[in-house]
Amino acid sequence: LIGPGGRARPTIFAEMTALAHETGAANLGQGFPDEDGPSWIREAAERAMRLGANQYPPGRGIPELRAAVAGHQRRHYGIELDPEREVLVTAGATEALTAAILALTGPGDEVVTLEPFYDSHAAAIAMSGATHVTVPLLPGPDGFRLDTEALDTAVGARTRLIVVNTPHNPTGTVLTPAELQRVADAAQRADAIVLTDEVYEHLTFDGARHTPIATLPGMAARTLTVSSAGKTFSFTGWKIGWISGPSELIEAVLAIKQFLTYSGGAPFQPAIARALTEGDRDIAELRDSLSRRRGLLVDGLRDAGFEASAPQGTYFVCADAAPLMGGAGADAAPLMGGAGADAAGLAGGGRDGAAFARELPGRAGVACVPLSAFCRPGSATSETLSSWLRFTFVKDEPTLRTAVERLRSLA
Ligand code: PMP
Ligand code: GLN
Repeated sequence: LIGPGGRARPTIFAEMTALAHETGAANLGQGFPDEDGPSWIREAAERAMRLGANQYPPGRGIPELRAAVAGHQRRHYGIELDPEREVLVTAGATEALTAAILALTGPGDEVVTLEPFYDSHAAAIAMSGATHVTVPLLPGPDGFRLDTEALDTAVGARTRLIVVNTPHNPTGTVLTPAELQRVADAAQRADAIVLTDEVYEHLTFDGARHTPIATLPGMAARTLTVSSAGKTFSFTGWKIGWISGPSELIEAVLAIKQFLTYSGGAPFQPAIARALTEGDRDIAELRDSLSRRRGLLVDGLRDAGFEASAPQGTYFVCADAAPLMGGAGADAAPLMGGAGADAAGLAGGGRDGAAFARELPGRAGVACVPLSAFCRPGSATSETLSSWLRFTFVKDEPTLRTAVERLRSLA
C-alpha cells in the first residue's frame, strides 16, 4: 500500500486519469460517468441541505434510507431485511467492504477472492493481516468464467471469508446461479461467510440477470451484501453505500465503521432514499443507454484490432491487445517496438499490457487500465491476462466516438 519514500501509491485509476489529463487523452480508464445522474435526485439533495441536513446523521444511517434499502432488496430480489438491525449505511461500497473485511478477518485467516479482483478488496485484506487466496476468472468462449475446480481447492478449513463480486469489475461477468451455487456450497462446507459486492447490480445487458448470492438456499444467514448509489444513479462522488445481512454480522461491521467515518453524506442520504424508492425508471434508462454505448466501444475495439467481446454487465469491456503487440514470432508491434518499448522493460515477447496501457494515451489519445492491475503481481492469472486491457464505456457518445476513431489509427 505504501510506495517508495513512504508516499501513498496512487491507485491505477488515479494514475490513468492523471495520464489522460496530461496527454489530453479520452479517459476510458477510471470508471465514472461523465454525465451526472437525474436532476430530481440532485435537487432532493439540494433541498435536504437547505432544510438543514448538514450535521452528523445517525451512525447506522437515516431511518428513511435504511428502510429504502430494505424495500429495494424486497422489491427486486424478495430478500426480507429488518431495516433497524440488518442494514447499515456506509461511505460508499468501499467503506462497507473494508469495514467488513477488518471486522471479520485477521492474521491466520484466509480470505478468498476472484482474480482479477477490484483493487480495494485486496487492499482491505492486506490491512486486516489475513492471507489472500484467489480463484481465477478466465476468458473463454462464454466470456470470463469462474474456475470452479480452483474454487473447491481454494476454500478450506482456514477460509473465513469468500469475497464475491457480480456483476464483476473488471471482466463484466455476471455470475450464473450455477456458479453462485458452487460458491455457496464451498462456503457452507467450510463454514465461511460470504461478502458480496453488487455495486453493478442494475447494470446488466442482453437479458443477463443479476442473482444476489443471499437468495440461494441457506445463504442469507451467512452473507453480507454490499451496494452503493454511485453506479446505480450516477453519483459516484456522493459516496453513499450500504451493507445488509444478519444482525450479528452487521453489528461487527458497525464496530469498525464507527471509527472509520462514524457517519457521513447527510444531505445525500435522503436523496438516495427517494432514488431507491422512486428511481426504477431512471435505472432502466441508464441501462439502455449504457447498452448502446457498450456496443459502440466493443465494435470500435474490434475494428482497431483488439479481441473483445461484449460484457454482460458493469461499465467495462475487456480487450486482448495481443494482436496489436506483436511479440514472439509476430511482425513488429506497432506500439511496442523500439526504444520506448525497451525503456518500458517489456517482458514475454512484448505482451506487457501495463506498458502498452501507459503508452496508449501518448500514442493514440486513449486511456485504459491493464488487467494486471487487478491481479496479484506475478500470479498465474496475471500472466494469462498480461496482454488484456479494460476500457470503460460510461462516457458520452461523442467521447466514445472520438476514442474509437483514435484507436482505429492502431489497426
Ligand atoms: N466495488 C466495485 C466492484 C467497484 O467497481 C467500485 C468502484 N466503483 C466500488 C466497489 C466502490 O464503490 P463506491 O464508490 O460506492 O465506494
Ligand atoms: N471503481 C472505479 C473503477 O473501477 C474506480 C474507483 C476509484 O478510482 N477508486 O474504475
